[in-house]
Amino acid sequence: MTRIVVIIALTLVGASARAESVDTAALKDTVIESVDRQSTTMTQMSDTIWAHAEIALNESESSAVLADYAEAGGFAVSRGVAGMPTAFIASFGEGQPIIGILGEFDALPRLSQAAVPERSARFEDGNGHGCGHNLFGVASLAAAIAIKDLIRDGQINGTIRFYGTPAEEAIGGKTYMAREGLFDDLDVAISWHPSYETRVDTAGSQAMVETIVEFKGISSHAAFDPWNGRSALDGLELFTHALNLWREHVRPSVRIHYAYVDGGGAPNVVPATASASVWVRDNEMPTVLEMLERMREMADGAALAANVEAEVHRVTGTYNLLQNKELAKIVQANLESIGPIEFTPAENEFAIKLQNAMGVPAVGLNGTPEPLDLNATEIEGGSTDTADVSWIVPTLEFSVATAPTDIPWHSWGVVASSGMSIGHRGMTHAAKTLAASMVDLFTSPEKIDAAKAQFREDLAGLSYHAHIPDGPPPIPDSH
Ligand SMILES: [Zn+2]
Repeated sequence: MTRIVVIIALTLVGASARAESVDTAALKDTVIESVDRQSTTMTQMSDTIWAHAEIALNESESSAVLADYAEAGGFAVSRGVAGMPTAFIASFGEGQPIIGILGEFDALPRLSQAAVPERSARFEDGNGHGCGHNLFGVASLAAAIAIKDLIRDGQINGTIRFYGTPAEEAIGGKTYMAREGLFDDLDVAISWHPSYETRVDTAGSQAMVETIVEFKGISSHAAFDPWNGRSALDGLELFTHALNLWREHVRPSVRIHYAYVDGGGAPNVVPATASASVWVRDNEMPTVLEMLERMREMADGAALAANVEAEVHRVTGTYNLLQNKELAKIVQANLESIGPIEFTPAENEFAIKLQNAMGVPAVGLNGTPEPLDLNATEIEGGSTDTADVSWIVPTLEFSVATAPTDIPWHSWGVVASSGMSIGHRGMTHAAKTLAASMVDLFTSPEKIDAAKAQFREDLAGLSYHAHIPDGPPPIPDSH
Protein backbone atom coordinates (compact mmCIF):
# COMPACT_ATOMS: atom_id res chain seq x y z
CA MET A 1 0.00 0.00 0.00
CA THR A 2 2.72 2.44 0.98
CA ARG A 3 4.72 1.51 -2.11
CA ILE A 4 1.79 2.24 -4.42
CA VAL A 5 1.33 5.67 -2.86
CA VAL A 6 5.03 6.42 -3.25
CA ILE A 7 5.04 5.43 -6.92
CA ILE A 8 2.02 7.61 -7.61
CA ALA A 9 3.62 10.51 -5.78
CA LEU A 10 6.83 10.13 -7.78
CA THR A 11 4.91 9.89 -11.04
CA LEU A 12 2.81 12.96 -10.28
CA VAL A 13 5.51 15.22 -8.87
CA GLY A 14 8.47 13.70 -10.64
CA ALA A 15 10.97 15.92 -8.86
CA SER A 16 14.20 14.47 -7.49
CA ALA A 17 13.60 16.44 -4.27
CA ARG A 18 10.59 14.21 -3.64
CA ALA A 19 12.62 11.06 -4.19
CA GLU A 20 15.17 12.33 -1.67
CA SER A 21 12.59 12.99 0.99
CA VAL A 22 11.12 9.51 0.39
CA ASP A 23 14.63 8.07 0.89
CA THR A 24 15.11 9.92 4.16
CA ALA A 25 11.77 8.66 5.46
CA ALA A 26 12.70 5.09 4.49
CA LEU A 27 16.10 5.41 6.21
CA LYS A 28 14.36 6.68 9.34
CA ASP A 29 12.05 3.64 9.27
CA THR A 30 15.15 1.43 8.98
CA VAL A 31 16.93 2.95 12.01
CA ILE A 32 13.74 2.86 14.08
CA GLU A 33 13.35 -0.85 13.23
CA SER A 34 16.99 -1.38 14.19
CA VAL A 35 16.35 0.15 17.64
CA ASP A 36 13.27 -2.07 18.05
CA ARG A 37 15.39 -5.13 17.19
CA GLN A 38 17.99 -4.05 19.77
CA SER A 39 15.45 -3.34 22.52
CA THR A 40 15.88 -6.64 24.43
CA THR A 41 19.67 -6.23 24.46
CA MET A 42 19.28 -2.56 25.41
CA THR A 43 17.14 -3.50 28.41
CA GLN A 44 19.67 -6.13 29.51
CA MET A 45 22.60 -3.70 29.19
CA SER A 46 20.84 -0.87 31.02
CA ASP A 47 19.76 -3.24 33.82
CA THR A 48 23.33 -4.51 34.19
CA ILE A 49 24.70 -0.96 34.41
CA TRP A 50 21.86 -0.06 36.80
CA ALA A 51 22.70 -3.02 39.07
CA HIS A 52 26.45 -2.24 39.11
CA ALA A 53 25.74 1.45 39.89
CA GLU A 54 29.37 2.51 39.59
CA ILE A 55 30.31 6.10 40.43
CA ALA A 56 32.74 8.52 38.76
CA LEU A 57 35.81 6.85 37.20
CA ASN A 58 35.00 3.56 38.91
CA GLU A 59 32.68 2.54 36.05
CA SER A 60 34.80 -0.40 34.84
CA GLU A 61 31.90 -2.89 34.39
CA SER A 62 29.51 -0.29 32.96
CA SER A 63 32.06 1.05 30.51
CA ALA A 64 32.95 -2.51 29.41
CA VAL A 65 29.28 -3.42 28.78
CA LEU A 66 29.03 -0.56 26.28
CA ALA A 67 32.51 -0.84 24.74
CA ASP A 68 32.08 -4.61 24.21
CA TYR A 69 28.70 -4.10 22.51
CA ALA A 70 30.21 -1.48 20.21
CA GLU A 71 33.12 -3.76 19.37
CA ALA A 72 30.79 -6.70 18.68
CA GLY A 73 28.87 -4.35 16.37
CA GLY A 74 31.98 -3.76 14.27
CA PHE A 75 33.13 -0.42 15.71
CA ALA A 76 36.84 0.31 16.21
CA VAL A 77 37.10 0.95 19.96
CA SER A 78 39.83 2.92 21.79
CA ARG A 79 39.61 2.32 25.53
CA GLY A 80 41.13 4.36 28.34
CA VAL A 81 41.35 7.66 26.44
CA ALA A 82 42.30 11.05 27.99
CA GLY A 83 43.94 9.40 31.01
CA MET A 84 40.67 7.85 32.23
CA PRO A 85 40.46 4.02 32.24
CA THR A 86 36.67 4.07 31.71
CA ALA A 87 36.58 6.63 28.88
CA PHE A 88 36.38 5.23 25.35
CA ILE A 89 35.65 6.13 21.76
CA ALA A 90 33.96 3.77 19.27
CA SER A 91 34.15 4.73 15.60
CA PHE A 92 32.70 3.32 12.36
CA GLY A 93 32.95 4.47 8.75
CA GLU A 94 35.23 6.98 7.11
CA GLY A 95 35.25 10.51 5.79
CA GLN A 96 32.78 13.35 6.26
CA PRO A 97 30.51 14.07 7.90
CA ILE A 98 31.80 12.93 11.29
CA ILE A 99 28.92 12.84 13.77
CA GLY A 100 29.54 12.29 17.46
CA ILE A 101 27.06 10.92 19.94
CA LEU A 102 27.66 11.16 23.69
CA GLY A 103 26.87 8.47 26.27
CA GLU A 104 27.17 8.66 30.07
CA PHE A 105 27.03 5.74 32.53
CA ASP A 106 28.09 6.90 36.02
CA ALA A 107 25.91 6.53 39.13
CA LEU A 108 25.52 8.67 42.28
CA PRO A 109 26.72 7.85 45.79
CA ARG A 110 24.34 6.52 48.45
CA LEU A 111 21.20 6.32 46.33
CA SER A 112 20.85 2.53 46.30
CA GLN A 113 17.21 1.67 45.58
CA ALA A 114 15.20 -1.30 44.28
CA ALA A 115 12.91 -0.89 41.24
CA VAL A 116 9.84 -0.43 43.48
CA PRO A 117 7.70 2.68 44.11
CA GLU A 118 8.57 3.00 47.80
CA ARG A 119 11.90 3.69 49.50
CA SER A 120 13.80 0.41 49.67
CA ALA A 121 17.60 0.32 49.34
CA ARG A 122 19.15 -2.68 47.56
CA PHE A 123 22.34 -2.23 49.59
CA GLU A 124 22.86 -0.25 52.77
CA ASP A 125 24.82 2.89 51.76
CA GLY A 126 25.14 1.58 48.18
CA ASN A 127 25.15 3.71 45.04
CA GLY A 128 22.34 4.22 42.55
CA HIS A 129 21.44 5.58 39.12
CA GLY A 130 19.65 8.69 40.41
CA CYS A 131 20.24 10.52 37.11
CA GLY A 132 19.28 7.63 34.79
CA HIS A 133 22.72 7.35 33.20
CA ASN A 134 22.24 3.56 32.89
CA LEU A 135 19.68 4.45 30.17
CA PHE A 136 21.71 7.34 28.74
CA GLY A 137 24.77 5.47 27.43
CA VAL A 138 22.75 2.51 26.13
CA ALA A 139 20.28 4.62 24.10
CA SER A 140 23.07 6.67 22.55
CA LEU A 141 25.03 3.56 21.59
CA ALA A 142 21.96 1.79 20.16
CA ALA A 143 21.36 4.82 17.92
CA ALA A 144 25.01 4.73 16.82
CA ILE A 145 24.65 1.02 15.94
CA ALA A 146 21.54 1.76 13.85
CA ILE A 147 23.45 4.44 11.91
CA LYS A 148 26.46 2.11 11.54
CA ASP A 149 24.26 -0.40 9.68
CA LEU A 150 23.29 2.29 7.15
CA ILE A 151 26.94 3.21 6.59
CA ARG A 152 27.92 -0.48 6.26
CA ASP A 153 25.16 -1.06 3.70
CA GLY A 154 26.23 1.99 1.68
CA GLN A 155 22.96 3.83 2.30
CA ILE A 156 24.72 6.84 3.85
CA ASN A 157 28.34 8.03 3.85
CA GLY A 158 30.52 9.31 6.65
CA THR A 159 31.68 8.44 10.15
CA ILE A 160 29.64 7.70 13.26
CA ARG A 161 31.49 8.04 16.54
CA PHE A 162 30.20 7.07 20.00
CA TYR A 163 31.90 8.70 23.00
CA GLY A 164 31.79 6.74 26.25
CA THR A 165 32.08 9.68 28.65
CA PRO A 166 32.66 8.78 32.33
CA ALA A 167 32.32 10.77 35.54
CA GLU A 168 29.68 13.33 34.55
CA GLU A 169 28.46 13.62 38.15
CA ALA A 170 31.90 14.40 39.55
CA ILE A 171 35.10 15.52 37.83
CA GLY A 172 33.55 15.96 34.36
CA GLY A 173 35.10 13.36 32.06
CA LYS A 174 34.12 15.22 28.88
CA THR A 175 36.23 18.22 29.89
CA TYR A 176 39.35 15.99 30.03
CA MET A 177 38.40 14.46 26.66
CA ALA A 178 37.86 17.97 25.29
CA ARG A 179 41.30 19.12 26.45
CA GLU A 180 42.84 16.17 24.54
CA GLY A 181 41.17 17.44 21.38
CA LEU A 182 39.03 14.31 21.03
CA PHE A 183 35.98 16.27 19.78
CA ASP A 184 37.91 18.63 17.49
CA ASP A 185 37.26 16.91 14.14
CA LEU A 186 33.51 16.37 14.66
CA ASP A 187 31.02 18.19 12.45
CA VAL A 188 28.23 17.91 15.01
CA ALA A 189 27.68 16.34 18.46
CA ILE A 190 24.33 15.12 19.67
CA SER A 191 23.17 13.83 23.03
CA TRP A 192 20.11 13.30 25.20
CA HIS A 193 19.42 13.11 28.92
CA PRO A 194 16.84 11.19 30.98
CA SER A 195 14.20 13.44 32.54
CA TYR A 196 10.56 13.50 33.63
CA GLU A 197 9.64 15.38 30.46
CA THR A 198 10.38 15.18 26.74
CA ARG A 199 11.77 18.52 25.71
CA VAL A 200 14.30 20.29 23.52
CA ASP A 201 15.54 23.14 25.67
CA THR A 202 17.46 25.91 23.90
CA ALA A 203 18.42 28.05 26.91
CA GLY A 204 21.38 25.89 28.00
CA SER A 205 23.03 25.59 31.41
CA GLN A 206 25.32 27.65 33.63
CA ALA A 207 29.10 27.95 33.56
CA MET A 208 30.80 26.94 36.79
CA VAL A 209 34.15 26.84 38.53
CA GLU A 210 34.72 24.50 41.45
CA THR A 211 37.49 25.40 43.92
CA ILE A 212 39.01 24.40 47.23
CA VAL A 213 39.90 27.48 49.32
CA GLU A 214 42.54 26.52 51.86
CA PHE A 215 43.98 28.43 54.83
CA LYS A 216 47.19 27.53 56.62
CA GLY A 217 48.15 28.83 60.12
CA ILE A 218 50.12 27.63 63.15
CA SER A 219 48.66 25.32 65.78
CA SER A 220 48.99 25.85 69.52
CA HIS A 221 47.07 24.99 72.71
CA ALA A 222 43.88 27.04 72.62
CA ALA A 223 44.02 27.77 76.41
CA PHE A 224 47.67 27.34 77.45
CA ASP A 225 49.40 29.41 74.72
CA PRO A 226 46.85 30.72 72.20
CA TRP A 227 49.12 33.72 71.49
CA ASN A 228 51.52 31.32 69.77
CA GLY A 229 48.80 30.12 67.40
CA ARG A 230 47.55 31.51 64.07
CA SER A 231 44.09 30.12 63.35
CA ALA A 232 43.47 28.91 59.82
CA LEU A 233 39.79 28.66 60.77
CA ASP A 234 39.74 32.41 61.56
CA GLY A 235 40.91 32.97 57.98
CA LEU A 236 38.24 30.66 56.58
CA GLU A 237 35.45 32.24 58.64
CA LEU A 238 36.46 35.75 57.57
CA PHE A 239 36.55 34.52 53.97
CA THR A 240 33.08 32.93 54.02
CA HIS A 241 31.72 36.05 55.77
CA ALA A 242 33.07 38.13 52.88
CA LEU A 243 31.56 35.62 50.44
CA ASN A 244 28.15 35.96 52.07
CA LEU A 245 28.26 39.79 52.05
CA TRP A 246 29.31 39.64 48.40
CA ARG A 247 26.06 37.88 47.45
CA GLU A 248 24.25 41.23 47.74
CA HIS A 249 26.43 42.74 45.01
CA VAL A 250 26.37 40.10 42.28
CA ARG A 251 24.01 39.77 39.30
CA PRO A 252 20.81 37.76 39.89
CA SER A 253 22.14 35.02 37.60
CA VAL A 254 25.09 34.30 39.95
CA ARG A 255 25.06 31.27 42.26
CA ILE A 256 27.64 30.89 45.04
CA HIS A 257 27.65 27.85 47.33
CA TYR A 258 30.17 26.35 49.69
CA ALA A 259 30.69 23.53 52.18
CA TYR A 260 33.35 23.38 54.89
CA VAL A 261 35.71 20.50 54.19
CA ASP A 262 38.13 21.06 57.09
CA GLY A 263 36.96 23.14 60.07
CA GLY A 264 39.73 22.11 62.47
CA GLY A 265 39.84 19.05 64.70
CA ALA A 266 39.38 19.86 68.40
CA PRO A 267 38.36 23.07 70.21
CA ASN A 268 41.50 22.97 72.40
CA VAL A 269 43.79 23.10 69.35
CA VAL A 270 44.19 26.30 67.32
CA PRO A 271 43.61 24.86 63.80
CA ALA A 272 46.65 24.93 61.54
CA THR A 273 44.52 24.09 58.49
CA ALA A 274 40.99 24.89 57.37
CA SER A 275 39.33 24.66 53.98
CA ALA A 276 36.05 24.91 52.09
CA SER A 277 34.80 23.66 48.75
CA VAL A 278 33.44 26.73 46.93
CA TRP A 279 31.49 26.64 43.65
CA VAL A 280 30.60 29.76 41.67
CA ARG A 281 28.24 29.79 38.69
CA ASP A 282 26.95 32.33 36.21
CA ASN A 283 25.43 32.26 32.75
CA GLU A 284 28.80 32.64 31.00
CA MET A 285 32.40 31.65 31.64
CA PRO A 286 34.02 35.15 31.44
CA THR A 287 31.98 36.42 34.40
CA VAL A 288 32.68 33.21 36.34
CA LEU A 289 36.42 33.81 35.83
CA GLU A 290 36.02 37.43 37.01
CA MET A 291 34.30 36.10 40.14
CA LEU A 292 37.14 33.64 40.68
CA GLU A 293 39.64 36.53 40.70
CA ARG A 294 37.47 38.49 43.16
CA MET A 295 37.35 35.37 45.36
CA ARG A 296 41.15 35.16 45.38
CA GLU A 297 41.29 38.78 46.61
CA MET A 298 38.80 37.95 49.38
CA ALA A 299 40.86 34.93 50.43
CA ASP A 300 44.02 37.09 50.50
CA GLY A 301 42.22 39.77 52.53
CA ALA A 302 40.93 37.22 55.02
CA ALA A 303 44.40 35.68 55.32
CA LEU A 304 45.92 39.10 55.98
CA ALA A 305 43.39 39.83 58.72
CA ALA A 306 43.93 36.42 60.39
CA ASN A 307 47.71 36.49 59.88
CA VAL A 308 47.63 33.17 57.99
CA GLU A 309 48.19 31.99 54.39
CA ALA A 310 45.47 31.42 51.79
CA GLU A 311 45.41 29.39 48.57
CA VAL A 312 42.63 28.99 46.03
CA HIS A 313 42.89 25.70 44.08
CA ARG A 314 40.79 25.23 40.97
CA VAL A 315 39.31 21.70 40.98
CA THR A 316 37.34 21.83 37.77
CA GLY A 317 35.47 24.21 35.51
CA THR A 318 32.58 23.74 33.12
CA TYR A 319 31.34 26.07 30.40
CA ASN A 320 27.75 27.17 29.84
CA LEU A 321 25.90 24.87 27.44
CA LEU A 322 25.38 26.32 23.95
CA GLN A 323 22.29 24.54 22.65
CA ASN A 324 22.46 24.69 18.86
CA LYS A 325 19.10 26.00 17.55
CA GLU A 326 19.45 24.39 14.11
CA LEU A 327 19.99 21.00 15.72
CA ALA A 328 17.09 21.76 18.08
CA LYS A 329 14.73 22.13 15.11
CA ILE A 330 15.84 18.78 13.65
CA VAL A 331 15.41 16.90 16.94
CA GLN A 332 12.04 18.55 17.67
CA ALA A 333 10.71 17.54 14.23
CA ASN A 334 11.75 13.93 14.87
CA LEU A 335 10.29 13.87 18.39
CA GLU A 336 7.00 15.08 16.90
CA SER A 337 6.97 12.65 13.98
CA ILE A 338 7.86 9.64 16.15
CA GLY A 339 5.04 10.69 18.49
CA PRO A 340 4.50 10.47 22.25
CA ILE A 341 5.92 7.70 24.43
CA GLU A 342 3.10 5.24 25.05
CA PHE A 343 3.37 4.33 28.72
CA THR A 344 1.12 1.47 29.90
CA PRO A 345 -1.60 1.71 32.60
CA ALA A 346 0.62 -0.41 34.92
CA GLU A 347 3.50 2.04 34.41
CA ASN A 348 1.21 4.98 35.20
CA GLU A 349 0.09 3.20 38.35
CA PHE A 350 3.73 2.71 39.38
CA ALA A 351 4.37 6.42 38.67
CA ILE A 352 1.43 7.55 40.79
CA LYS A 353 2.56 5.38 43.73
CA LEU A 354 6.05 6.81 43.40
CA GLN A 355 4.74 10.40 43.24
CA ASN A 356 2.64 9.80 46.37
CA ALA A 357 5.67 8.34 48.16
CA MET A 358 7.79 11.36 47.19
CA GLY A 359 5.18 13.98 48.07
CA VAL A 360 4.65 15.46 44.59
CA PRO A 361 1.35 15.75 42.66
CA ALA A 362 0.17 12.28 41.56
CA VAL A 363 -0.20 13.09 37.86
CA GLY A 364 1.54 9.99 36.45
CA LEU A 365 3.73 10.04 33.35
CA ASN A 366 3.94 12.44 30.44
CA GLY A 367 5.39 11.09 27.19
CA THR A 368 4.25 13.96 24.95
CA PRO A 369 7.00 16.27 23.62
CA GLU A 370 6.81 19.88 24.85
CA PRO A 371 6.65 22.58 22.15
CA LEU A 372 9.98 24.03 21.00
CA ASP A 373 10.74 27.56 22.20
CA LEU A 374 13.69 28.91 20.18
CA ASN A 375 13.68 32.15 22.18
CA ALA A 376 13.89 30.54 25.63
CA THR A 377 16.27 32.51 27.85
CA GLU A 378 15.57 31.13 31.30
CA ILE A 379 18.66 29.08 32.13
CA GLU A 380 17.96 26.33 34.62
CA GLY A 381 20.26 25.98 37.62
CA GLY A 382 22.99 23.38 37.30
CA SER A 383 25.87 22.63 34.98
CA THR A 384 27.06 19.78 32.75
CA ASP A 385 30.34 18.82 31.08
CA THR A 386 28.44 18.42 27.78
CA ALA A 387 28.75 22.21 27.76
CA ASP A 388 32.48 21.95 27.10
CA VAL A 389 31.76 19.92 23.94
CA SER A 390 29.27 22.60 22.88
CA TRP A 391 32.10 25.17 22.71
CA ILE A 392 34.08 22.96 20.31
CA VAL A 393 31.40 21.73 17.87
CA PRO A 394 27.68 22.44 17.27
CA THR A 395 25.96 20.42 20.02
CA LEU A 396 22.47 19.63 21.25
CA GLU A 397 21.34 17.67 24.30
CA PHE A 398 17.60 17.01 24.60
CA SER A 399 15.49 15.40 27.34
CA VAL A 400 13.29 12.32 27.13
CA ALA A 401 10.83 11.22 29.82
CA THR A 402 12.12 8.18 31.69
CA ALA A 403 10.53 9.00 35.07
CA PRO A 404 7.24 10.26 36.62
CA THR A 405 6.44 13.98 36.22
CA ASP A 406 8.06 16.39 38.68
CA ILE A 407 9.72 13.85 40.97
CA PRO A 408 12.90 15.22 42.61
CA TRP A 409 15.96 14.49 40.44
CA HIS A 410 19.10 12.79 41.80
CA SER A 411 16.75 10.87 44.07
CA TRP A 412 15.80 7.27 44.90
CA GLY A 413 12.65 7.72 42.77
CA VAL A 414 14.78 8.22 39.66
CA VAL A 415 16.78 5.09 40.54
CA ALA A 416 13.51 3.12 40.85
CA SER A 417 12.06 4.20 37.49
CA SER A 418 15.44 3.86 35.70
CA GLY A 419 15.55 0.18 36.66
CA MET A 420 12.15 -0.82 35.20
CA SER A 421 10.00 -0.52 32.09
CA ILE A 422 9.29 3.23 32.46
CA GLY A 423 12.99 3.93 32.06
CA HIS A 424 13.40 1.31 29.32
CA ARG A 425 10.56 2.81 27.29
CA GLY A 426 12.08 6.31 27.49
CA MET A 427 15.49 4.87 26.59
CA THR A 428 14.15 3.22 23.40
CA HIS A 429 12.34 6.43 22.46
CA ALA A 430 15.54 8.45 22.93
CA ALA A 431 17.51 6.00 20.74
CA LYS A 432 14.93 6.29 17.93
CA THR A 433 14.93 10.09 18.12
CA LEU A 434 18.73 10.25 18.09
CA ALA A 435 18.99 7.85 15.15
CA ALA A 436 16.28 9.59 13.09
CA SER A 437 17.88 12.99 13.75
CA MET A 438 21.25 11.65 12.61
CA VAL A 439 19.64 10.39 9.39
CA ASP A 440 18.69 14.02 8.70
CA LEU A 441 22.26 15.15 9.36
CA PHE A 442 23.92 12.42 7.27
CA THR A 443 21.59 13.01 4.31
CA SER A 444 21.46 16.84 4.38
CA PRO A 445 24.86 18.58 4.33
CA GLU A 446 23.01 21.92 4.32
CA LYS A 447 21.61 21.13 7.77
CA ILE A 448 25.14 20.64 9.11
CA ASP A 449 26.20 23.90 7.43
CA ALA A 450 23.30 25.71 9.11
CA ALA A 451 24.28 24.25 12.50
CA LYS A 452 27.87 25.42 11.97
CA ALA A 453 26.74 28.94 11.04
CA GLN A 454 24.61 29.06 14.19
CA PHE A 455 27.59 27.76 16.21
CA ARG A 456 29.85 30.57 14.97
CA GLU A 457 27.19 33.10 15.92
CA ASP A 458 26.80 31.56 19.40
CA LEU A 459 30.56 31.63 20.06
CA ALA A 460 30.52 35.39 19.48
CA GLY A 461 34.27 35.43 18.86
CA LEU A 462 35.16 33.61 22.09
CA SER A 463 37.18 30.39 22.08
CA TYR A 464 37.38 27.29 24.25
CA HIS A 465 39.95 26.64 26.95
CA ALA A 466 39.57 23.72 29.40
CA HIS A 467 39.45 24.99 32.99
CA ILE A 468 40.89 21.94 34.74
CA PRO A 469 44.19 21.22 36.51
CA ASP A 470 47.12 19.68 34.61
CA GLY A 471 47.33 15.90 34.25
CA PRO A 472 44.70 13.17 34.35
CA PRO A 473 41.87 13.42 36.90
CA PRO A 474 42.34 11.78 40.30
CA ILE A 475 40.33 8.54 40.62
CA PRO A 476 37.98 8.90 43.62
CA ASP A 477 37.14 6.13 46.11
CA SER A 478 34.48 3.69 44.97
CA HIS A 479 32.16 5.09 47.60
ZN1 LIG B 1 22.80 13.31 34.52
